[in-house]
Order: sequence, then structure tokens, then C-alpha cells
Amino acid sequence: MARSKRSDQLLFRLGGEEFSLKFASLRKLHGDCDHTLHEIRLTRNRRDPRCELETVIHELLHGLDPKWREWWVGRSAEEIADVLWRLGYRKSKDEAEIQ
Ligand SMILES: [Zn+2]
Repeated sequence: MARSKRSDQLLFRLGGEEFSLKFASLRKLHGDCDHTLHEIRLTRNRRDPRCELETVIHELLHGLDPKWREWWVGRSAEEIADVLWRLGYRKSKDEAEIQ
């Protein structure tokens, strides 16, 4: 995954397109995906890393295809996060370390 030189966002390719991911304060949202800007934003969630994992997957799915329905994205993200979590995948970096 390509990384930007800026420390506050991650640049990567998704579905063949350039995307960025950064942490932001989104009030009640865990995350969102602006498919026009190719930008994913996540709310910090240090208290619940399992939820943060699911949110990353959820927004990546939205980034892959904005036409996928919310219920399908939600269910798929939950299922993928469950498998990854049970396999032991955990966040080892704080968002401040993204570069
Ligand atoms: Zn969604």
C-alpha cells in the first residue's frame, strides 16, 4: 500500500483509483467515504479497535463501489472484520504514525 509523505493521511489504490484515508472528528459517524473525492475519513476509536477495523472495511467497500447497498456493505464489513479479528489481526500503529 503506497503511503503519502504527510503524517495525517494514507494514500493508497482502491479499485484502481487513488484514495486517501485520514482520521477526523465526524461526531456521530464512525467513518465516511466520499467517492467523488476518493477520500475516506475515520473517527478515532481507541476504545473499540474491533469497531474501528470494521469501519475501515466498511468504508473501503463503499470506496470500491458506491452503488453497493448500505445493508450489504454493513453486513459484509461485519463478516470480514469478524474473520480478521478471530485470526488475530490487530492495529499496531496509532493514527499519528500513519505516513
Ligand atoms: Zn455505510
